Amino acid sequence: MSVFTAPDFDGHENVVFGCDELTGLKCIIAIHNTNLGPALGGSRFWNYENEQAALTDVLRLSKGMTYKAAVAGLELGGGKSVIIGDAKKIKTPDLMRAFGRVIESLNGKYITAEDVGTTVQDMDYIRESTAHVRGKSSGSGNPSPLTALGTFLGVKAAVQHTHKTDDLKDMRVAVQGVGNVGYYLCKYLHEAGAKLVACDINQDSLNRVVAEFGAEVVALDDIYGQDVDVYAPCALGSTINDTTIAQLKTKIVAGAANNQLAEARHGEILMEKGILYAPDYVINAGGLINVAHETDDYDLEVVKAKTHKIYDTLLEIFQRSEARNLPTSVIADHMAEEIFKGHVSAAAE
Ligand code: NAD
Repeated sequence: MSVFTAPDFDGHENVVFGCDELTGLKCIIAIHNTNLGPALGGSRFWNYENEQAALTDVLRLSKGMTYKAAVAGLELGGGKSVIIGDAKKIKTPDLMRAFGRVIESLNGKYITAEDVGTTVQDMDYIRESTAHVRGKSSGSGNPSPLTALGTFLGVKAAVQHTHKTDDLKDMRVAVQGVGNVGYYLCKYLHEAGAKLVACDINQDSLNRVVAEFGAEVVALDDIYGQDVDVYAPCALGSTINDTTIAQLKTKIVAGAANNQLAEARHGEILMEKGILYAPDYVINAGGLINVAHETDDYDLEVVKAKTHKIYDTLLEIFQRSEARNLPTSVIADHMAEEIFKGHVSAAAE
């Protein structure tokens, strides 16, 4: 398996492979950049097709965390870890403790948290081997409401930029995926007077937003072509692609999902079509801001105040995008690089 020549290798500071024969642990920790502080990013437990796929995932995800933390104004670098295997079959408290020992060997350069396939309980097991873990049951708790708050503010910023008012009354918003984040986003939008269109593969989740917020339900594939003001992807990645862009009637894409653009060029296509895109890692940083502030004197009001800055950051990105005729996704990347590299990257010149 090649690392330095892997397509997604981006000068990562460290890529650490961890193994524990006794528990069956196989993990990779990637630390992309620590210019701003220790690398914080979750542990993903996933049954990868092969080790190369796991490496690709951890290289991409860790880089994304560097950009997300930088734009959110956090003194953190970017890192991520993956544990390879079927969590339902191999995950045990001892395996998580063994994983904690690998993290401990990095002396605080990497701090972990929850991600797909890991839970608050797992963080507690990891904590038995290392202090470098966030999101413990005694900590800041579920990040989703904060992610939803940031996303809601991001929707408002996009509406402000487009309509010169951020009043959401009677605006129609299509929310794709009404799980943890999507549910709270619907709540905020409903309270602001917006009309909701929703889809989800989970009927119970849908029933909840219908009962509580009067959402109109549409079929999964119909969500893209809705006659709405905002499309808010809150389920999967890569939902902005050639097929879906052709269907979009909205003028705004602003949602919480990670990796919304199937390829970087889709940011450009959105711009060409006059659709304003709120870059995913900027709008969905509320959860990271919450976890980053998980200290002994955790203060929800401080976290909320910092999350509110997402509104201004996005307005700045939208304005710069217009002024320089570059996609918002590119402007966000430049903004992050200016911060964590300490100078404007050559590509931004
Ligand atoms: P979740 O699993 O609670 O919710 C996702 C929802 O999407 C579920 O209800 C699921 O049934 C639904 N879904 C799955 N496939 C679908 C499909 N094809 N069409 C429509 N709905 C579908 O996850 P979450 O924590 O709410 O996160 C949602 C998104 O936001 C993810 O992309 C996640 O990576 C991103 N995100 C979450 C946080 C956070 O704090 N939870 C932070 C940053 C980014």
